[in-house]
Amino acid sequence: MSMPMAQTQLNGISNARLPVWALPADWPMHHGEPLTADIGFADGMISSLSPTKSSQCALWNLDGALVLPGLIEPHAHLDKTFTIGRSRPAGPGLLAAIDAMQQDRWHWNAQDIHQRAAQGLARAAAHGVSHLRTHIDWFDATAPAAWLEMAKLEQPGVTLERVALVPLVFFADAATADAIAQAVAHSGEHGLLGGFIHSSNWDPAAMENLMLSAARWHLNLDLHIDEELGKTANGLVWLAEYLSNHEFPGHICCSHGCALASGGEQQAKQVLALLAKQRVTLIALPMTNLLLQDAVVGRTPRQRGITLLKEAQTAGVPTLLGCDNVQDAFCPAGSYDPLDTLTCGMFAAQLEDVFDQQSRLICDLAVLTGATRAGSPLVVGNAANIVIFPGSDRFTWPLNSAARLVINHGKLIYQRMWDQEHINES
Ligand SMILES: [Zn+2]
Repeated sequence: MSMPMAQTQLNGISNARLPVWALPADWPMHHGEPLTADIGFADGMISSLSPTKSSQCALWNLDGALVLPGLIEPHAHLDKTFTIGRSRPAGPGLLAAIDAMQQDRWHWNAQDIHQRAAQGLARAAAHGVSHLRTHIDWFDATAPAAWLEMAKLEQPGVTLERVALVPLVFFADAATADAIAQAVAHSGEHGLLGGFIHSSNWDPAAMENLMLSAARWHLNLDLHIDEELGKTANGLVWLAEYLSNHEFPGHICCSHGCALASGGEQQAKQVLALLAKQRVTLIALPMTNLLLQDAVVGRTPRQRGITLLKEAQTAGVPTLLGCDNVQDAFCPAGSYDPLDTLTCGMFAAQLEDVFDQQSRLICDLAVLTGATRAGSPLVVGNAANIVIFPGSDRFTWPLNSAARLVINHGKLIYQRMWDQEHINES
């Protein structure tokens, strides 16, 4: 594959192997695989999508390389990231990690937050992420320093969304709930309301205030909900029931939902059937939940802690995968590469047909934002954001696919290639 000049505006790409989910239903197939595609660009946007024609010499020929739409990171924590060196939890599990984070946050001045968050965002961009949603912990009813600092972050080509991650207890008082929602609504574009909803702080009256205040201030929601195993989690059951009886104007992402995998099969089916009728997306976080759920010192975990991804897909609930915590008290590892998340999810949840179908779990922006015009990101008029995986193939992918070319708004902005491979045989 020849390489174009970096940062020049490209006319488009040719001979790109796209995943089936991102192509029109009538796309021509050959031996069960879609024909490669030509994608034209104009002014940084997609101007055409068609099966490859041999005469498209104005386009960059990718020789059949795997190609995805711009990646998304639907669930990160840029406020906590890269603190593992100074913040180790005293024990296993989610609640011990929260304790460690509470100790570490006394280091979180503007400079510390900015430096760590900018590093996380830059790494994600280099992997091909063009949209990242970060949760930001609130410790009382007023916006924390991280909320304000994160608003100043800029990474060319990446849209950054901020979710106020507020413990449910702060919504117990209706006036306080309203003030929190108002603060989020008044803090600029790309702000969402969120909450930490767990059996340890369960309060249905606070949940109702949360929903009402979000509706009043026209906010979408992204909830940390039921991040636990066992039958005591109430969040998703309550939410499914509430939405069935009350109109909510916005879109809701439910992150984690681990408890769905440990309750009764019938109850889970009912909850998913109700959620499928609403504007709700379920986000699984396989790395942290494999680490934090069923975590006991000296004992191999028996449960996986992954929400019911396949059942949700069958029921018609849109699904995504996120990285969650990266190199902090909640998860000591992580890379901001959505392919690593998908690889983990593939093994944890036994996902099949990973490139052609499940790659949408790390690309489908409309499922994250609840955009009314859902569908493939590769339609005419959308931003020409493309990630190319040179040297990979659909059976190896997403493993061993660190080599990457990132096109953002029609320009090649990042490239990581394997230039040489030596075999030294004796
Ligand atoms: Zn999270």
